[in-house]
Amino acid sequence: MSLDDHAEELASDLGVDKEEVKEKMATLLEYDVPVEEAKQNIRRTYGDDSPSGTETVPTKQLADVETTDGNVSTTVRVLSVGKRSIQYNDQEHVIFEGEIADETAKLSYTSWEDFDLEPGETVTIGNADIREWDGQPELNLGESTTIERADGTLEVPYEVGGDATLAELAPGDRGITVEVQVLEVERKIIDGRDGETEILSGVVGDDTMRLPFTDWEPRPELEPGNSVRIENVFVREFRGVPSVNVSEFSTAEGLPEPVAVQETAPRWSVRDAVESGGLFDVELVGSVVAIRDGSGLIERCPECGRVVQNGQCRSHGEVDGQDDLRTKAILDDGTGTVTVILDENLTAEVYGGDLADAREHARDAMDRGVVADAIRERVVGHEFRVRGSLSVDDFGANLEASEFEEHAVDPADRARELLAEAGE
Ligand SMILES: [Zn+2]
Repeated sequence: MSLDDHAEELASDLGVDKEEVKEKMATLLEYDVPVEEAKQNIRRTYGDDSPSGTETVPTKQLADVETTDGNVSTTVRVLSVGKRSIQYNDQEHVIFEGEIADETAKLSYTSWEDFDLEPGETVTIGNADIREWDGQPELNLGESTTIERADGTLEVPYEVGGDATLAELAPGDRGITVEVQVLEVERKIIDGRDGETEILSGVVGDDTMRLPFTDWEPRPELEPGNSVRIENVFVREFRGVPSVNVSEFSTAEGLPEPVAVQETAPRWSVRDAVESGGLFDVELVGSVVAIRDGSGLIERCPECGRVVQNGQCRSHGEVDGQDDLRTKAILDDGTGTVTVILDENLTAEVYGGDLADAREHARDAMDRGVVADAIRERVVGHEFRVRGSLSVDDFGANLEASEFEEHAVDPADRARELLAEAGE
């Protein structure tokens, strides 16, 4: 049913103006309130407390639930229960979300009420509202939903509980438990709902991979080197990669045994890496074919850190730029190209001198461009092994390097190549 149909039905039910109802409904839906919840809310404003609708709600198995379904009832096993707080109508609202399953399928759910759901229990959900989420149907449990605990246990071909490795995480996952080692942590001040708040941002790893994380409620357990079990996290996409979100409802507990961390990054071809849309920790091997403008001795805006051109920052106008070293190298492995960005330290390594050396070099030559020229001389035409974080956007693929070293070809391989060439 369209918004118009819902409004029409509700308005005639309540005997009030349709446009007025439609407007109220549109506002609620804008705040992501499920349709049934919104209708119920509007009924109350008009002083009608009778339960919504008179049509009977079909009972379905999860595999038969479609995004076009209005409401369904179903008996399921609760796989996971995540708790999260969101904001709508200027109010803090606690919601519950996770996965449910029966013999036929598993689906996500969001509960706008606290039904005290527990992972593992079997329940009959009466009158859940179906919404589309990421192309899939999702059950929304609201005020008009009923929950009945079943006596037996429904056997389902899915694991109960939200335990997952980092490699298994996908954006949208909720109510997840991970066991990880904290690798990097940075404290940040952000403009939150209630003014400035402190958050933690960093990197966690397990034996499958490393991923970025954010802790919205800084907790002492998340210190570099600590191995922790974190329950009830949710996963969001951050620059094309899954990011672990630790909320006020998550719990972190130190583990007695350290969690082993995958030391190397998986090696990808440039084409596959770019097509993936983003990889947090990846290794690429290719030749540097060029150095882009904006490499070498550059100037940054002291306010925002953006690169300053001709003394002008894009946001802050004329500023007194601060010197920095950076390299933007185009890496080509035959399947595609990416721009590898080297920070001050990695640039100093390939340049063979630090910021002070670069300044002196530029002063002597009376040309800042000599620093980029020296870097170009050293890297173009050479093969490198690069490790870092790849992000892809409309402007291309950028890899922020954490490691950049000349790729030493295995002498045995090289000998075989030469023999093969000679044999031709
Ligand atoms: Zn600026």
